[in-house]
Amino acid sequence: MPSSELIVASHPLVQHKVSLLRRKETPTADFRRLVNEVALLLAYEITRDLPLEAVTIETPLTPMQTNMLAGKKVCLVSILRAGNGLLEGMLDLIPSARVGHIGLYRDPQTLRPVEYYYKVPSDIAERPVIVVDPMLATGNSTAAAVARLKEDGVRDIKFACLIAAPEGIKTLHDAHPDVPIYAAALDDHLNEHGYILPGLGDAGDRLFGTR
Ligand code: URA
Repeated sequence: MPSSELIVASHPLVQHKVSLLRRKETPTADFRRLVNEVALLLAYEITRDLPLEAVTIETPLTPMQTNMLAGKKVCLVSILRAGNGLLEGMLDLIPSARVGHIGLYRDPQTLRPVEYYYKVPSDIAERPVIVVDPMLATGNSTAAAVARLKEDGVRDIKFACLIAAPEGIKTLHDAHPDVPIYAAALDDHLNEHGYILPGLGDAGDRLFGTR
């Protein structure tokens, strides 16, 4: 895997659905459904290089050699809380994936991410891991989540988001050049409050209707 990789999903369905997500009048139920759909399409892209092994099976008519997934099952790791929005669509495509959760908040003094929750499979180090969070804004929490997973020995990590800002891409790539970023869209920049422009607003609030 080349380092510092950014893959922006260019599929017309992804672009169409992200445009619907961005519209301020899109209601919560539609927003959630669209996030699921885009997550599934991102999962298709991000799992493209999963290893396969040759196996022999029997169809109702004859034995045959075919390919099936090899190795340990993927682990999806959600950065709470908005990451949970991406989980469902990804699990529709990879139903046997394991799931971990990481909760981080920003210390008001240092502005650095502080961990308040961490629960992942005990054998996560042996699994390919996909970290999910809809908005790659400053990149600080994503970089911290990846660092925490590396502390646990995880080596094969990819990151998936809906919208990435250049600032977040730089932060994540500088800290973890081995982690490819998969995004449904690449936006312009952050505003003074750390929101992505043009963006889609607060992804957690729009997913859970908490605004
Ligand atoms: N988090 C969000 O939900 N939206 C942004 O634009 C940036 C961070």
